[in-house]
Amino acid sequence: MSFSSLGLSAELVRVVSEEGYSEPTPVQRQAIPVILEGRDVLAGAQTGTGKTAGFTLPLLQRLSARAPAGGTRPVRALILTPTRELAAQVAESVDTYGRHLPLRSAVIFGGVSINPQIAQLRRGVDIVIATPGRLLDHIGQKTLDLSRLEILVLDEADRMLDMGFIRDIRRILALLPSSGPNGRQNLLFSATFSEEIRQLASGLLHDPAYIDVARRNAAVETVSQVVHPVDRARKRELLSFLIGSNDWRQVLVFTRTKHGANKLAEQLTRDGVTAAAIHGNKSQGARTRALADFKRGAVRALVATDIAARGLDIDQLPQVVNFELPNVPEDYVHRIGRTGRAGQEGEAISLVCVDERDFLRDIERLTRREIPQVVIAGYAPDPSIRPEPVFKQRQPRQHNQGRQHNQPRQQNRACSGNGAGQGPRAQVDGNGGHQGEGKAPARHGGHRKPQGGNVQRPGGEPRNRTHQGRPGQRPAPRRSGA
Ligand code: AMP
Repeated sequence: MSFSSLGLSAELVRVVSEEGYSEPTPVQRQAIPVILEGRDVLAGAQTGTGKTAGFTLPLLQRLSARAPAGGTRPVRALILTPTRELAAQVAESVDTYGRHLPLRSAVIFGGVSINPQIAQLRRGVDIVIATPGRLLDHIGQKTLDLSRLEILVLDEADRMLDMGFIRDIRRILALLPSSGPNGRQNLLFSATFSEEIRQLASGLLHDPAYIDVARRNAAVETVSQVVHPVDRARKRELLSFLIGSNDWRQVLVFTRTKHGANKLAEQLTRDGVTAAAIHGNKSQGARTRALADFKRGAVRALVATDIAARGLDIDQLPQVVNFELPNVPEDYVHRIGRTGRAGQEGEAISLVCVDERDFLRDIERLTRREIPQVVIAGYAPDPSIRPEPVFKQRQPRQHNQGRQHNQPRQQNRACSGNGAGQGPRAQVDGNGGHQGEGKAPARHGGHRKPQGGNVQRPGGEPRNRTHQGRPGQRPAPRRSGA
């Protein structure tokens, strides 16, 4: 099937062929025709499926088909995203796909000066890509008028709700012109569907077309997954070993907390692996720099928290490492979606210590598959080590990107493996300002006894052995084209 058979204009067919896309992905095949028809859409598509082009291409076509009257240039499309990184990424896609069209766009997010954004909006833009907080600041300052909005996109809506943006979203929706049969078109994209998402969708969407390209909560099919059981205090050592012995050139590493990300990046650097951390406490400049260095290969390991990693699109990212398993199993699916993008092969490696057995079990339940376990020679876990609680105490959230969010958070104490995991252990999470990262909804509020047999069989034998775990036997990884 070709892009032109989906009803896309010559300019857009040309741009996708210039981008090297030979055929539409499943979400594009389904979404593009119905969006071109003007229908509302509810799409279950996770990152890496090509969903951004799936909504951006028809959106650009609809906007360019009808120029607004009177030579003015009102904002006609708004794309809301949960994170700055995703906003920047989507804006880049809008620029790329729209380069043969006379449309203008602006990206609006916090953490950077508002003045250049105001100047850009004054000059007139057709499309705004924004995070909710800064968008509301602009609306409050009357530097942005959405009264002539024609298309609204909520991208990664599940993550926006996770981050506590629901009230901001509702405030924004209340300010928009009416939707309905001949009014605004609404597109909602989400990787997962909670009751809250269903409620949001039912209030927002009119007779939507339903698109579901991936089994919900299913791990990306093209990603090979492996667990390396290891003691909590030896994770960092094992990670450095894996990076070195496999000659990984571009690896994205996940930690649960911002503090853990900083510490691990420092330790990897000391081990001779160039590394940078990316999380919500870093300035936008530092985040952008770290990502650019990683993309051009100057940084070998990018250590990220879940929220900071949303929206990262790095072509052909070969490896993702879960240095710590997420306590929210859906985050595992999001994490491994960073690799194996758009049909590329990818590898997701999880370093799992005895404290994380419950997390692993929840992930396997959610993804409905058992992840093969491979013990790396020399790193077999010590069976005498007892599990320790991952989350010790609960505290009210102090600060959150989603302003109204006041879920409790818990402090991460165990299983960091980067120097804080021994004996009567020091507190790991010392990160002051909290932006919804290292979050710990009450799924694992305290220590539970391990369920047994999940990490390693008696006798230290892995449940399954695959080639992934043997250092030095794999071909050199692809370098990013980015
Ligand atoms: P997304 O799921 O929107 O984050 O897109 C993931 C990646 O797939 C991006 O790097 C896109 O450039 C790429 N992509 C999107 N559509 C296609 C396509 N039809 N063929 C190949 N790659 C694509």
